[in-house]
Amino acid sequence: MDFAYDDQNIFAKILRGEIPNKTVYEDDYALAFHDIAPQAPVHVLVIPKGPFMSLDHFTRDASDAEITGYMRAISKTCEMIGVEDGFRAIANARAQGGQEVPHLHVHLLAGRPMGPMLA
Ligand code: C5P
Repeated sequence: MDFAYDDQNIFAKILRGEIPNKTVYEDDYALAFHDIAPQAPVHVLVIPKGPFMSLDHFTRDASDAEITGYMRAISKTCEMIGVEDGFRAIANARAQGGQEVPHLHVHLLAGRPMGPMLA
């Protein structure tokens, strides 16, 4: 991989069990947990277990099994949180994309109308 993954980032620490989290779903490929500063009635983050910084790096470098596993984990998480009325999925990448934590995470937001546009 041609990028430096920072294994001291906060989500890496969560994956190693060094920082607690409110787990929604976990399997061999992914962990889903409640965001500490929810932006909607339901706000869950889904992260892959491998050392991937962003969605473009993940879909370039991860194995087929890791990609499938992560996507399936997002589906399982949606089942857990209940998204029948709709939801928004966001993956910020790097500074201009508004990414604060350099470990890939998909935000799942639900429980209120999201509006037509992103900020
Ligand atoms: O996409 P971005 O990197 O900005 O999102 C990071 C998210 O991680 C924020 O929504 C923040 O509230 C969340 N977070 C968290 N637990 C932490 C640190 C950050 O849920 N310990």
